[in-house]
Amino acid sequence: MQCSAIDLILQVTGKVVALQPDQKVVIRAGKVLTGRQSGGRVLYDQAVVVEDGVISAVMDWGSFVIPLEAELVDASDSTLMPGLIEGHCHVTGERVCDPHATHLEAVGDARVLRGLLDVWAVMNEGFTTVFSMGHGNPNHAAAIREAVNGEGFPGPRIYHCGWAISQTAGHGNVREWSYDLVKSLKPRSLFADGPYQLRAVVRQNLGCGADFIKIYSGEGGFTAPENISRRLDFTSEEIQAIVDEAHRQGFRVASHCMTLAHAIHAAENGVDRVEHGPVLYEPGFVHMLRDTGASWCPTVSQLWWALVERESRRLSESMVSRLERGLADRARTIVEALEAGVTVGFGTDNRMRPKAGRNALEFQLMASHGVPTLDVISIGTVLAARMVGLEPHLGTVEEGKLADLIVVDGDPEKEIAVLTQPERITRILKSYRQVHLDPAAKR
Ligand SMILES: [Zn+2]
Repeated sequence: MQCSAIDLILQVTGKVVALQPDQKVVIRAGKVLTGRQSGGRVLYDQAVVVEDGVISAVMDWGSFVIPLEAELVDASDSTLMPGLIEGHCHVTGERVCDPHATHLEAVGDARVLRGLLDVWAVMNEGFTTVFSMGHGNPNHAAAIREAVNGEGFPGPRIYHCGWAISQTAGHGNVREWSYDLVKSLKPRSLFADGPYQLRAVVRQNLGCGADFIKIYSGEGGFTAPENISRRLDFTSEEIQAIVDEAHRQGFRVASHCMTLAHAIHAAENGVDRVEHGPVLYEPGFVHMLRDTGASWCPTVSQLWWALVERESRRLSESMVSRLERGLADRARTIVEALEAGVTVGFGTDNRMRPKAGRNALEFQLMASHGVPTLDVISIGTVLAARMVGLEPHLGTVEEGKLADLIVVDGDPEKEIAVLTQPERITRILKSYRQVHLDPAAKR
């Protein structure tokens, strides 16, 4: 059940601790899930010291002496974790099933206020960092970020891609409309073709404050018919130009990919992040990720939402069974990808409440289909940080990392579902420090 805006504001402001430069905090944590992929993944009865917005020490509580000037957060009966990282959502996104109602709404700029409430709903679940992957005017995402960073509204770190980039009449098209209308309203992306026009739109995005670049190297969503999803967008030369321009300036590129062919087209032409990936298990997919070094953001949630909405989306029986099989296949692919050393990061592709605010469901979906719980937690923390370029600053409870931390009433290692209950996220600490993405592009 979606709570009202006032309830949401009260919940978020009641538990967010915006850490100030002169603040010294000691957290006594009964258990720490550090986020790490190996070695010291779980610690017990720890003192975690925060100074100047940074974790300055993690040590056994028994050998720790509390400094006189420090505030004490007693989480001795709780679990401390890194702030969660949502690597793929749409803070001002469309309602997937109804392009008319969404894209033609009378008050388009209302998306800004709605988006602010949506990022609060996501933060209420413990996500302290959010990546917005386009859809609509990027000034809306930038305005929400300004409200948080400039005006002091509580909210997660927000990174956005500027305009998503589609080839002419590619995945950015809304097929229910005339293309002339799409081209002028640009509800999902802008449109550009040819290496130099694409370099120009990359430059335009970066000039307007984008933190990374998002393209569509293939068409269709999880329920697209085969005649749509077999389409590849952009030529190799075009993708290489986008990647070269972004990398040259120190930024990463993510691409929407729904099939193995889309993913190969993106990663072999230099894209850093493959978003979504094929619905069903494809043995070549993991090998390709490993060989190219591309990260993968599996967005399991969208398979689940499509199944929930099967009637309104009028899905056929065969599509329903394909999606059900897809949930299990995705978990299998995630396990194999992790074993192969691929960076699998966290992202839901959610947009708008009630989906925004149910992002932690992704953890439960991965775990319930067979991904080991501690791996699921690494995916939402250190691996997500690695995928997006924030690993030097975020993603683990370790000395030197920013103090974006959450206190969970319960033990997500034993019961991952506690992460899906915002009332069990009792404290959210967020460092005042703002950080940019790691400028070292993957290649
Ligand atoms: Zn998306």
